[in-house]
Amino acid sequence: MESIHNNINDVLNTTPIAVAYSSISSGHIEYINEAFTNLFGYRLEDLSDIKSWYVNATPEKDHYHNVIGPFIDNTNLSSARDIKSNLICKDGSIKHVNIYISKLNDKKIWYFTDFTDHWVAEERLRARSNMLEMVAKSSALKDILSTIVNQIEQENTQSICSILLFDKEQGCLRVGSAPNLPNFYNEAIDGVQAGPKVGSCGAAAYSKKRVIVADIASHENWQPFAQLAKEAGIAACWSDPILSSTGELLGTFAIYKRYPSTPSEKDFDLINFASRLASIAIESFRAKEELEQRAYFDFLTGLSNRGHFFDKGEEIFKSTAIEKTPLAIIMLDIDDFKKINDIYGHKTGDQVLKKLADISEQILSKRDIAARIGGEEFAFLLAHQDIDHVLSIAEQLRHHIEKSMVLSSENERVFFTVSIGVASKGKDTHYCTLGELLNKADKALYQSKKTGKNKVSHEVYTNTPSLF
Ligand code: GH3
Ligand code: MG
Ligand code: MG
Repeated sequence: MESIHNNINDVLNTTPIAVAYSSISSGHIEYINEAFTNLFGYRLEDLSDIKSWYVNATPEKDHYHNVIGPFIDNTNLSSARDIKSNLICKDGSIKHVNIYISKLNDKKIWYFTDFTDHWVAEERLRARSNMLEMVAKSSALKDILSTIVNQIEQENTQSICSILLFDKEQGCLRVGSAPNLPNFYNEAIDGVQAGPKVGSCGAAAYSKKRVIVADIASHENWQPFAQLAKEAGIAACWSDPILSSTGELLGTFAIYKRYPSTPSEKDFDLINFASRLASIAIESFRAKEELEQRAYFDFLTGLSNRGHFFDKGEEIFKSTAIEKTPLAIIMLDIDDFKKINDIYGHKTGDQVLKKLADISEQILSKRDIAARIGGEEFAFLLAHQDIDHVLSIAEQLRHHIEKSMVLSSENERVFFTVSIGVASKGKDTHYCTLGELLNKADKALYQSKKTGKNKVSHEVYTNTPSLF
């Protein structure tokens, strides 16, 4: 009998599938093959009864009670003989397995087929398409990066991840997403300079190379942050630079560990995947932002373009259509601009346009819509501001512009003026369209031009309902 067992065990030890058997009467695990040890990390002496092992190895307790428990208690094998589940290994990592059960006399035989690699590949594809969908739907970059971090942490449950974004102007790193690191840690790291010996991420950003710190406590890069890391409960940090498709530094992706550790082949593969995914996310997000910038804003002045002015303006007019909300438009046209171009050249003309936009941004509030609606014509939409205030803003604009100047390519001082037309909605006017108010502003502007330029004229739009 003994020798038969030995023979069977020898045969089972040569199979690539993880196999275990347990006694039905005692529940005791009597045998596991080598493939089982390779898959889950356990030796026979680590295990006692099959039920306790399943209870401890099932990551979600609900899943144990609703699915795994009934499955393993099914002694007669009257229902399903196989099931898919996640199981926790001895080292704490998680395997995705198919469990098949069969019965022989007093033994239950368990077969485990590992499909973790397949699961990982599918999850990664899903992560990539989720990320691209979020970019397409204009989600905030922080949210996009958080889904990447969550994805990686789900794949490797013993990792804490962070994505830092490189701030080119300041030469420092900003927290992009690190939802599972303590706030005090993120606050301390936010703004850290890139440098050859600055932790793992600062050094990875500086060298544009991967930096593996297996033991934070003993690494010179981490000396200034050692206490902080200890308080945050982190002992190892592996950081990869996130590079754009042209090799430009975008940020860093880091995996933190609670115990000193060096990355395995699989960890390297995960880091590669994560930093690549983050790179695609950041680049796609920025490309979309740039496209939107080009679609909505004037390339020369940075103000809204004509299309954006009308879209935004229509929105405001619709939302205030039945209210007595004060609405006003300031329309502005450069005086004798053709002459400026003719005398000083087109480039100087462009400088004048930029200067005018700068002055407008200084004087107007962020809530106002400021747009370049034509070559040298500008329109500003001001809501919820009474007309005296709007007229004083128009006068400030005229005055500032008159006093300002640009230098020509020959270093000549070039002064310029503007004519302004203001149109406002009358106190008792409930309904008025953007087009109607713009026509009024145009009329007022024409008035300023006709009566000597460099002045402000005002027209009120009324549509007092007729009694007949
Ligand atoms: P007025 O006082 O009556 O407004 O005279 P004006 O010369 O300003 O008006 P006009 O409409 O005759 O000329 C507008 C000029 O604006 C003509 C055009 O070359 C110039 N212009 C339009 N867009 C640009 C631009 O982007 N850059 C430069 N430099 N000039 C531009
Ligand atoms: Mg004009
Ligand atoms: Mg003009």
